[in-house]
Amino acid sequence: MIYHAEGIVLRSQPFGEADRIITLLTRPEGKVRAVARGVRRTRSRLMGSTQLFTYGSYLLVRGRSDLETLSQGEIRESLRRLREDLDLMAYASYACELVDRMMVEREPDEFVFGLVLAVLRQMEAGSPPFGLVRYLELALLDRLGYRPELDGCLRCGKAWSPGNGWGIDGEAGGLICPECGTAPTVRRLSPGAVESLRRMRSLPAERAGVLRFSAETAREVRSALRDLLDARIEGPLKTRAFLESLEAAPWKEANHGRAGSD
Ligand SMILES: [Zn+2]
Repeated sequence: MIYHAEGIVLRSQPFGEADRIITLLTRPEGKVRAVARGVRRTRSRLMGSTQLFTYGSYLLVRGRSDLETLSQGEIRESLRRLREDLDLMAYASYACELVDRMMVEREPDEFVFGLVLAVLRQMEAGSPPFGLVRYLELALLDRLGYRPELDGCLRCGKAWSPGNGWGIDGEAGGLICPECGTAPTVRRLSPGAVESLRRMRSLPAERAGVLRFSAETAREVRSALRDLLDARIEGPLKTRAFLESLEAAPWKEANHGRAGSD
């Protein structure tokens, strides 16, 4: 079978002498892996379209193996800044690894495709990458069947109202009120952090670039989402440690956005 597919390069690894294996998130076929033969030779016409984060149009051949063969590729949007800026590279790599880990091969999802493209495009355009990546984390959890409870207490059903003593239980998957929040797995959150998570969910993906957090809220929101994700993903994400080391640098507070409008 030969098919055309719009796709985003989530991963691109050298393979053998001159080939590359790319992981593509495609619109019609979902996540697929494809071998691009001879792509590391000079003047290969596939070179540009197989670079990490590229959004392109591809012609793929499906044989008997679980690996497609990339026959043609054409760049639609190169998203070049994501490869040239170290910070953006770290955020975009994390975003793509997360998508790769959470998506099952050959299960198309139009919504996730649009989400990933919207997040990478806004990152490329200069919106704060921190908020975009947090948005992606929550949106993927919501979409893929792990929607965290953010409207009230998971245990007793008490509706959320801004107040102290609330927390999040990553394992159980949502908010826990002050009365129920005694388990060691409950992480306390400030009212501002809970409101930030709730506000994130109300935004469409194309607007996620507006998200801004104070440094303190940023840390809380990141930890809450990490707890929720770690309960759903097996094993560590390779790109996370590097990203977190960059985020920890004090001069990188600007990545959270300066406005602090949470
Ligand atoms: Zn409760």
